Parts: sequence; structure tokens; C-alpha cells
Amino acid sequence: MTLPVLPLVLQVPRMKKKNTEIEIDNVSSTSSTINLHDPSTWPAIINNRLLEILVEKGPPSIQQNIKFPTNTDSDGRSFSPSQYFRILPNGEKSERKWLVYSLKANSTFCYCCKLFSIKSVKLTGKDEFSDWRHLATQLSRHESSIDHMFNYQKWNELKKRLSKNCTIDCEHQPYFESEKRRWRDIITRIIAIVQYLAGQCLAFRGDSDVLYERNNGNFLKGIEMLAKFDPIIISNHINNIQKSKKYSYMPHYLRHSFQNEIITELANSIKTKIQELIKKSKYFSVILDCTPDVTHVEQISFVARIVDISTSSIEIKELFLGFYPVLDATGEGLFNFFTNELLSTYDLDVQNIRGQGYDNGSNMKGKKSGLQCRLKNVNPRAMYIPYASHSLNLVVNDAAKQTFEIVGFFNIVHELYTFFSASPYRWNILKTNITKLTLQPVCETRWESRVKAIRPLKLQLKDVIKSLNMLLEDDSRDVKTKVAANALLNNISTF
Ligand SMILES: [Zn+2]
Repeated sequence: MTLPVLPLVLQVPRMKKKNTEIEIDNVSSTSSTINLHDPSTWPAIINNRLLEILVEKGPPSIQQNIKFPTNTDSDGRSFSPSQYFRILPNGEKSERKWLVYSLKANSTFCYCCKLFSIKSVKLTGKDEFSDWRHLATQLSRHESSIDHMFNYQKWNELKKRLSKNCTIDCEHQPYFESEKRRWRDIITRIIAIVQYLAGQCLAFRGDSDVLYERNNGNFLKGIEMLAKFDPIIISNHINNIQKSKKYSYMPHYLRHSFQNEIITELANSIKTKIQELIKKSKYFSVILDCTPDVTHVEQISFVARIVDISTSSIEIKELFLGFYPVLDATGEGLFNFFTNELLSTYDLDVQNIRGQGYDNGSNMKGKKSGLQCRLKNVNPRAMYIPYASHSLNLVVNDAAKQTFEIVGFFNIVHELYTFFSASPYRWNILKTNITKLTLQPVCETRWESRVKAIRPLKLQLKDVIKSLNMLLEDDSRDVKTKVAANALLNNISTF
């Protein structure tokens, strides 16, 4: 779908990974991503709209969890968070609200001078400091300079005016506000559709990416349905998109890339919630299992089990954190991946693990080099318990394989299913006689599947015999079919 360019004021910040990152099309119409909290990414010329966004957003608070790099100059010096404070002559600490550290540029900036300096002053670099040796002197010299005080005052004045909606272009302000509300309403509805589809595990896309075309997928069909009942927001939005087809670009937030962004954001926020839950309960157990996916990539599932004490009713919870591809599925490979990648992604401490549960694979349960043993060497309190159902399944399966009668019995059950399912004609005859449960195959690995395979026979053995007899007496069937039906009939008659 190709869509039109809107005037600059209508272009809404495009959502990126963090809510401080936006994509702004500036005056020269080149598009670039800027981080509102990082002055090193701001454009050289800041237009009025961006200026207002930056003033409204303000500099990042110093409590933000930044890992400051160390030894960044030749003398081993680097930025120290103590510079966020100025020590007054009476010994009191005063916060330098204007000081911003940029991790990307490894430099500090003056927020207000970066915003309000005239071009000539900006080029001298007075708003940026990265000489760590003389930083303290430079900062105190800067904060007492006339330019800085002037810019600081301008910053505060604009902040106040914005909060009271009385900027110089205050007659445009209500329009900006209504645009903001309109886009917020549109995006809220789009997020609701994404949430619904993702929650129900439904596919998003179809054969076409165009509205009101056939097979354009659940997402666009959801938008179309919403438009019927939401004339003010979604229906108007669709009209705008359709009217402006002659233009090359308009942000409409219906593209699959935006759907993916929202899905990723939703997943991240769910994972953050889970991480908080685990951290709150402190101790946790892990449940891991490996299996190859359809593209033959080995995937590990990561589940944490905790005692949730965050609500009044204390509950045991199992929390799924995702599937992760693993290259090395040996005990050592899994241990390295688990401790170096999975635990550090969620900032979890290996010492807080109190239990580990896996299947009976030797790479998992091995006493000398399996994952459980390697984890126990690091944390002896991480008790290993093999999956109870998996162990029971193995025991029952192996026991049953030792008995002549049982192996023979299940062979017949499976052959019955194979015989009828091999031809639609035979299956049809079976269906006319059996009214309740259809025949099921026997699965080799899961013992439980045998219950499902036996139940239809136990309840409808007479009907199965009748179906086999019908095939035997049917002259249109070949001899091979009749021989097979006869053999099965003899077998099940002696059950
Ligand atoms: Zn300044």
C-alpha cells in the first residue's frame, strides 16, 4: 500500500524499541532515528516541534540504570555519576538537572544549551564535555557562564508555558493536542486487535496487504470490522488512507512491520513482568526441554517455577519465558548457554535456583557431565528431579514391551487403524457402523495415547466386527482387502 506525505505537524513519532527513541522527518525531509534522552543523536537544527517534545520530555533522571564505561581516556579516567551533583559552599548537594551523559558518544551534554544555543555557540562545543581530566572545572565554569544561565532560563520558561498551553504558537496548540489524541486513539485500537489475535494464537497476515481485499488476513479484517462500529476514529482513518493514495507515504500503522513491533513490545513487557515476579519471590526452579523445530534447529524451552507471594493468596506458578535456539545440545553446551545467556538475559542469579526438572536425556540428567550435575557443582541447592510423567511413561512402556501378549495386542489395535484409514471407502463403511468414537493410532512414545486407541474398540467392538464382515461380503473389493479384513477379524474375535 503506498501512502501520502502529510504536513510536518501531522507526522507522529514512530515507535521504536524504547519509548525514548523516535523517528522524526526533519525539515530537509531526510528521516533519522533520534533518542530523546541522548543529545548526541539530535539533529544539528532542532525545529520547533522537536524542541517542544524535548522540553516536555526533559532530560533522563539520574537514577536510570546506566552502566558507565570505565577507563575511557589514555589516563584511565571516565565519567563519574558524582558529577551529577554540585557541592555548594555550605556543603549541601545540588543536582545538575541540565547534565546528560551520552553512552553512545561517551560524552556529557548540557541539555538546555544543546536546545537553545545559537548555532555559532553550539559549534564551539560549549554544550558538550568529554575531557574527563578537567570535567569538574569545566562543569562549574559552564554552569556559572552567562550563556548557560540564559539558556537555562529559556528552558524553564518554555517548560512552564508548555505546561500551561501558552507557547508562542499557542493558537496551534489545541490542534496539536487533538492530533495527538487522534493518533493515540488509532494506535490504541490497533494494539487491541494485535493483543486479541496474539492472545488467541491466530495468524495476522493473509495473501494481500491491502484493506478491503479478499484474504487480506485477520489483522486487516479486524480493522475493517472495527471501522463498521467506530466511524469517528477507525473509519475516518481508513478514509484518509484511501483518499491519499496519490501520495507516496503516510504513517498509517497498518503495515506488518508495525504489527511485529507491537508484538515484540507486548512480549517484552510480559517478560519484564515475569522477571519482576521471579525477582520478588527470589528463589526459583527451572524446567528446560530441548526439541528440534520444523527447520531442524534445536530449541530449548525455558520455564521458571516460583512461589508467588505478591498476592494475598500464595500460589505456585509456572512461567513460560520462551523458546531459544541452541547450537550445542551437550551437557556442557547447555550449561554454558543456560548460565551465560538465559540467566543473564533475565538478570537472574544461579545461586537462587532451588530446583531443576528435565526429561531423562543423558545430556540433561547425566550424573557426570549432564546439565543437572554441572548446575549442582555451581549451586548444590539446585535439586534435580526428573519429570515424573516422563519417567512413569518410560517404565510402563518398557514393562509392556517385555510381554508377548501385550505387544501382540497393540499391534492388532494399530493394524485395525491402518487398515481402515488406508482407504476412504473402508473408512466410510466404518463410519456408517460406528457412531461415537473413531479408531485411533497407537503412538510408540506416549503410553497415554494407548488409552485413546483402546477406548473406541472397548465400547464398539461389535460395530468394528460388523464393518469387517461387510468388507468381506462386499464383491466390489479385491481379494487382498478381503484377506486382510479376514485376518483382522480372526485376531479381534479372540481378544
Ligand atoms: Zn549549559
